[in-house]
Amino acid sequence: MKPRIGVTCSLGDASPGQYTLSALYVKAIAAAGGVAVLLPCDEEADVEAMASSVDGLLVPGGGDIDPVYFGEEPRVENGRIDPTADAFEIAIIRRFLAQGRPVLGICRGMQVLNVAAGGDLYQDLYQGTGTSLQHRQNAPGWHGTHEIQIEPGSLLHRIVEAERLRVNSFHHQAVRRVASGFIASAKANDGVIEAIEARGPGFALGVQWHPERMVTRCQASKKLFAAFVQACRKKRA
Ligand code: MN
Repeated sequence: MKPRIGVTCSLGDASPGQYTLSALYVKAIAAAGGVAVLLPCDEEADVEAMASSVDGLLVPGGGDIDPVYFGEEPRVENGRIDPTADAFEIAIIRRFLAQGRPVLGICRGMQVLNVAAGGDLYQDLYQGTGTSLQHRQNAPGWHGTHEIQIEPGSLLHRIVEAERLRVNSFHHQAVRRVASGFIASAKANDGVIEAIEARGPGFALGVQWHPERMVTRCQASKKLFAAFVQACRKKRA
């Protein structure tokens, strides 16, 4: 039986009252041998029942995170906040981490993973770091526009089998303090953290780029989904 990957989805801007999720996540999971199961963010959601219905958790891209979760007031640069998605995703991530079950966070998903585990964020990386590297690219999503350096020996390194990679970039927030129990497993050339992972044997990985948009053209992105689905398969067995 194929591993079941829960993918959180939240209410979008475009159609009020309707859940939205890019089909590319679903297709990337399917291409890697898994089945995507959508987990809608809702205040009334039974997080425990939803978590136990799947073998792994993918937290996708989306809007900004309410900085109240790391003790800050919102800066003027902070973007759209979805309190329901924040609460639901933090709760379900904490459950997966506590149980040592596989989690993959993508873009916002990596940032929520870090906050759920006790780390914090730059509400706006341009204010926080002073970088002038373009992290909100104007090129299409399948094209990697900036380089990252991957920590040798990390889980990410073992998966992509490379120390440098070109990735796409669609973010203005970034991980600042990495949660305890996690490491920064990749950085852009300006020092902005581009991947985090839990120390230890499990699979809890966050990437700041969007591998689901690169997967058909980029071996590393393909390997990432393959390794995640494989970790979910193992955990199930
Ligand atoms: Mn970037």
